[in-house]
Amino acid sequence: CEQVEDPAQAKGIVQREVLRVITPGTLIEPELLSPKENNYVAALHWDKKQSSPSMKGIGIAFMDLSTGEFRFCRADSLEEVEGVLSKINPREVVLSEDGKGQPPPGAFLEDKAIRYVSARYFLKDEAYRLLTQHFQAHSITAIGEEGSDLIAAGALLAHVKEAQKGVMGTITTLQPYTLHNLMRIHPLAQQHLHLVPSGDTKEGTLLQVIDKTVTAMGGRLLRHWLLHPLLSPAEIIKRQEGVSFFHKNHALRLSLRDSMKKMADIERLLGRISLNAANPRDLIALKTSLFILPEIFKKVGSEVGTPTAVGVPTWDNLDDVAGIIDRAICPDPPLSMKDGGVICEGYLPALDEIRAFQKDARSTLTGIELRERQRTGIESLKVRYNQVFGYYIEVTETHLKKIPPDYIRKQTLTRAERFTTPELTEVEDRLLGADEKICRLEAEVFKKVCESVSCQARRIQEMSSKIATLDLFLSFAEVAHQNRYTCPVVNDDLVIRIVEGKHPVLDKRLSFVPNDTFFDPPDSQLMLITGPNMAGKSTYMQQVALIVLMAQIGSFVPASEATIGVVDQIFTRVGAADALIRGMSTFMVEMTEMAQILRQATPRSLILLDELGRGTSTFDGISIAWAIAEHIHRHGARTLFATHYHELTQLPRSHTGIRNYHFLVREYKDEIVFLRRITEGGADRSYGIEVGRLAGLPPEIIKRAKIILGELTAIDLRSPLSSLSPGTSPVQEDLFAAPPPLPAISPVLKALQAIDPTAITPMQAIQILADLAEQARKEI
Ligand code: ADP
Ligand code: MG
Repeated sequence: CEQVEDPAQAKGIVQREVLRVITPGTLIEPELLSPKENNYVAALHWDKKQSSPSMKGIGIAFMDLSTGEFRFCRADSLEEVEGVLSKINPREVVLSEDGKGQPPPGAFLEDKAIRYVSARYFLKDEAYRLLTQHFQAHSITAIGEEGSDLIAAGALLAHVKEAQKGVMGTITTLQPYTLHNLMRIHPLAQQHLHLVPSGDTKEGTLLQVIDKTVTAMGGRLLRHWLLHPLLSPAEIIKRQEGVSFFHKNHALRLSLRDSMKKMADIERLLGRISLNAANPRDLIALKTSLFILPEIFKKVGSEVGTPTAVGVPTWDNLDDVAGIIDRAICPDPPLSMKDGGVICEGYLPALDEIRAFQKDARSTLTGIELRERQRTGIESLKVRYNQVFGYYIEVTETHLKKIPPDYIRKQTLTRAERFTTPELTEVEDRLLGADEKICRLEAEVFKKVCESVSCQARRIQEMSSKIATLDLFLSFAEVAHQNRYTCPVVNDDLVIRIVEGKHPVLDKRLSFVPNDTFFDPPDSQLMLITGPNMAGKSTYMQQVALIVLMAQIGSFVPASEATIGVVDQIFTRVGAADALIRGMSTFMVEMTEMAQILRQATPRSLILLDELGRGTSTFDGISIAWAIAEHIHRHGARTLFATHYHELTQLPRSHTGIRNYHFLVREYKDEIVFLRRITEGGADRSYGIEVGRLAGLPPEIIKRAKIILGELTAIDLRSPLSSLSPGTSPVQEDLFAAPPPLPAISPVLKALQAIDPTAITPMQAIQILADLAEQARKEI
């Protein structure tokens, strides 16, 4: 809220108005934003009736007011909505206050700040009207195809406009957001792979490991790249060229990074300038940053063989924009306009004139003070100024007798009196008027400068994005250099070959053991990984996915060699951490997620399945895991399948393409040592009891467990899938007694057993049924 009237002129209470409503999604204050993260507000619209084809799906729009990004898209399923929202991570989600336009309930709105706004915003005509008006289009079709997504965009615009009281200078374009031609990362995979900080994962994310960007724009773009890996090898290779160039060219890289470190967040500075929220120092920060552009250009432009991706041919130094600010704004201005002294000397003649006059008047005041001291003989006489009484002559008590008759009393203090004279009043009037005039003129100039800069917004944004991209090339090159990464070969094949791959996040550890990976469907398509707990299975699977992802964002990878046949989607099925929150049983969640994966995966996808089937009894678990492995094998996604079910190691016998791998473990004096090395073949034992001992289970339990294991293994040998159900606990002593003698089998059962229902005709079936019935009657 601010006063919107001059207090001096106001009658009664000074009028105040709400100038802006601050909401989490519309922040523009730098101190409230994270520099390397966009701050999005999103709106969702769903037409329950799906009244026309364009109303199918759920409309999504999102906006970062601080940078001016404004996008829209349509999601075909709730999963897709979740996918988009988990990527953009909006701070605020706008929904219609009546139930009609709201999307069906889903987990994607959990822990989001929801803002319910007037249902009117979501009316088709209202939304379209606002969009066409804001973007000055003839009709909505000039902006995009009509649909629920544009309605969401219109409603979002209405909400932000209301909060901003119409000040929307940054929002100059509305662009479609598309996941087309990009790798899809399932929201759960994004979480499991710890790509970016979220919820309870703050540390140990891939983003933190590979972020060596030195500008805020670069930091934001890195986050975007990381969550939107490319599919086209050509595009990926283009990025690689940029990275390789700076990887080889150390001196240039270091020197460029030094230059760029001096660069402020020009994108958000521009945002504040366009939203009339900039202070004088923001303009100076922008100018100083723009002055670095020629310096950077000189460095990259003078090199031979700078890849086109760096954008040298279309470089724009923006001298004119920097010049506008440089000529008008003092190099070291006060923080606020109110303090004055913001506009340079010599910029505006009218301003210079008043300032000169002001200076003149000040010396007149000094003159008056000197003259009056002589005239009255009062050495301590002072000419001073204060806010309430303006200019006055101050004389202390002791000298009051010497006061000349033309002094007019203004104020009495305990020890002094304050006076004025007609001459002083006149100077005062002129001076106060000058102050006001200067203030007004400075504000006018400042506003004009801001407008001139805003007019060049497109060009500044272009350069901001160029700087961000350059920053990413430098960052990838720097990370590759520091961590000794290699440039992967990326192509359209299905082969994934990684030699001495490492987990990018855990690689920081000195003792990290590198491992190889090889996929070449259909010969090697599913890696079945066994090995005891703690062997390194989960880490290894994550490592493969992270290396693939890094390759597809254009980064180098932690391996000594790598060939990556691009992956279109990454899925993970790991643990069931958030199962309870969603109110489903662990196993139900596991199976729901599994079903989703099987529905969406293609032969190009990469699937990580970690210990599938844990949530149910062993035999159910084994059967489901087995069937799923077979299914994936048939449909052909490259898959890493870690399991503690040794039974599954039989799969490769009947399925070429499924291969056994295990993690090496050495037994040393009754202890086990994890070598963390993967090798082909199934593991022989699971070492669960040893791990239990390592974890500190009491010795008597370990001892007892070993005995039970011995007995179980013996039974297992006699009848592999005997009536033993390890899922039932506790294990009872008599479970291990000799199995009871089998009852004599009835002829009816025997006959039933012999029937192959797929090989008989309905007529035969009826005949057989009749025979069986007859037989059964005899038996009783
Ligand atoms: P599993 O899934 O087989 O139970 P994890 O992947 O959880 O095993 O790994 C167990 C531990 O071993 C983790 O603490 C991990 O940091 C460590 N580890 C895993 N792989 C390696 C490796 N290649 N080199 C060094 N340590 C590793
Ligand atoms: Mg594990």
